[in-house]
Amino acid sequence: MTGTEKAAEHRPEGSPESLIKVSALREGTVIDHLVAGTALKVLSVLGMRFDGAVMVGLNLDSRKAGRKDIIKIERRELTPAEVARIALISPRATFSIIRDFKVVRKFTPELPDVVEGLVRCPNPSCISNATWVASKFTVLRADPLRVRCRYCERSLKKEEIELL
Ligand SMILES: [Zn+2]
Repeated sequence: MTGTEKAAEHRPEGSPESLIKVSALREGTVIDHLVAGTALKVLSVLGMRFDGAVMVGLNLDSRKAGRKDIIKIERRELTPAEVARIALISPRATFSIIRDFKVVRKFTPELPDVVEGLVRCPNPSCISNATWVASKFTVLRADPLRVRCRYCERSLKKEEIELL
């Protein structure tokens, strides 16, 4: 292959048409309005296992609030447990389910009053760190997030929360 042919092959990737094609999703989930800087954490919550394409936008301009991250996941709808984990990371995230290029459902999950088995208690002597006990936290406030362990009463701020 000559150099000119290679250049011709690569040109479409940067063209406006191809950018539009990349950003449209036929089937899957769009997670929008993620707090800027949280997208990679959200991807790790989703286990980094994907069948289709995943598009990640970091630190984008948001009309609602300063900067945001956005994730588009092809051919995947999230489980309620995954949605709950993401809501803990980014309480104002919106989820859009896309089928055949159309938004069939759009929602912002509400954090439950109690989250079970999602957050690790940092207190080493807390019973919830025993393998047979599921952690249980009361949600004191959604945004900024604050939770309290139901077993040892330790209260955690957003920055202190480690997801299981
Ligand atoms: Zn605890």
